[in-house]
Amino acid sequence: MSRRGELDAIVVGGGAIGAALALALARDAFDVALVEARAPKPWRAEDDVDLRVVALAPDARRLFEALGVWPMIEAARVGPYRRMHVRDGSAPGALTFDSAENGEAALGWIIENKLIQHALWSAVEAERNARVVCPGEVASIVGEGDGVEAVLADGTRLSARVAIAADGAESPVRAMLGIDANGRDYLQRGIVANVTTARSHEHTAWQRFLPTGPLAFLPLADGRCSIVWTLPDAEAARVLALDDDAFRAELGAAFDFRLGEIVATTARAAFPLRLRLADRYVSGRVVLAGDAAHVVHPLAGQGMNLGFRDVACLARVLRDARERGSDIGAAHVLRRYERERRSENALAARGLDLIERTFAGAGDLRALVRGGSLALAGGVAPLRHALSDKAAGRV
Ligand SMILES: Cc1cc2nc3c(=O)[nH]c(=O)nc-3n(C[C@H](O)[C@H](O)[C@H](O)COP(=O)(O)OP(=O)(O)OC[C@H]3O[C@@H](n4cnc5c(N)ncnc54)[C@H](O)[C@@H]3O)c2cc1C
Repeated sequence: MSRRGELDAIVVGGGAIGAALALALARDAFDVALVEARAPKPWRAEDDVDLRVVALAPDARRLFEALGVWPMIEAARVGPYRRMHVRDGSAPGALTFDSAENGEAALGWIIENKLIQHALWSAVEAERNARVVCPGEVASIVGEGDGVEAVLADGTRLSARVAIAADGAESPVRAMLGIDANGRDYLQRGIVANVTTARSHEHTAWQRFLPTGPLAFLPLADGRCSIVWTLPDAEAARVLALDDDAFRAELGAAFDFRLGEIVATTARAAFPLRLRLADRYVSGRVVLAGDAAHVVHPLAGQGMNLGFRDVACLARVLRDARERGSDIGAAHVLRRYERERRSENALAARGLDLIERTFAGAGDLRALVRGGSLALAGGVAPLRHALSDKAAGRV
């Protein structure tokens, strides 16, 4: 504990980002409380693959390795993808990328959100200097002066040097602090389902850009594909209401039967898509991380990966501050994190937004590559691969 018996850090929100941050801080010997309003759903090997998956990038995997959770995740259920195939639905040609070209075993890994959260929570719960408060809902937070105090809905008070709001896209803490988040609603939904295709997915992440929005087929460990089908709201409502046979037929056609017929599908779910960027990441001794700070279009599977970069950065900044003997909640310390992360996250979000607009405006992939969008999207993996100089040279 730091002075006055306080905690070092309070992490609000136990999604993937908050849990990873609490673990990273605990491993760095900070005393930390992880406060989560709802207990996470358990992950069990015998359950069917959950509908919510993420495409984990190599740097996020390295973070998991450093935190010691990767072996558990890898042993559980992971779909590596070795190639990426990006195709413009309204123009010929495709861009393909192979992990062998950059000497990597995989470009990324398709993993259930629930499994990531499960692995991180198990590790946090095993840490002596981490306290998990769940269910615990932060009702108010005051982070001015020489400490931060969070009051939970049941009246519990927690005080620390610093607090991190990793409480998701709607971030109640961001609202409590009066931080605005700007952006736009895409008026689109991302429909997700797990489908069986007639042909093998070949451990490839397939992406087809259609005038209605991108359609991704992501390779699952069990041979099926997780699809993310972005459609305008009204069209998404229509597709969600189709019976399974009609859905399979429409999905197969939208994907140009690249993997043959869609043989089977699970139930579907849909998520509204938004762009949201917090005006600032710091208010007093409270900082934002993950979706609380930035919500991006999922067309390149980047949202959570950007959040893990927030985690790695903030953990390093707080560790450095302690080593220098600084107060870890001091404004200059937290501003350093904000400077490093806010510009990269904004660049990624705007790059993705530009790609979305380009395709919505019937642009084609070659026009995008020829145009200036490359520089913007350049910081975004795995689209970084898709929009690399090498790729541009092929077009
Ligand atoms: C269709 C779709 C596909 C996607 N695909 C990808 C992908 O392939 N790759 C990728 O990187 N990203 C992807 N994303 C984005 C990714 O899902 C999010 O970026 C990520 O889940 C955000 O995690 P988080 O921990 O910041 O927030 P959340 O997961 O929203 O967690 C926030 C937590 O805070 C808790 N909370 C809220 N308020 C309080 C409070 N007052 N007190 C205590 N707890 C509170 C909530 O209960 C919740 O558990 C996708 C998103 C969508 C919609």
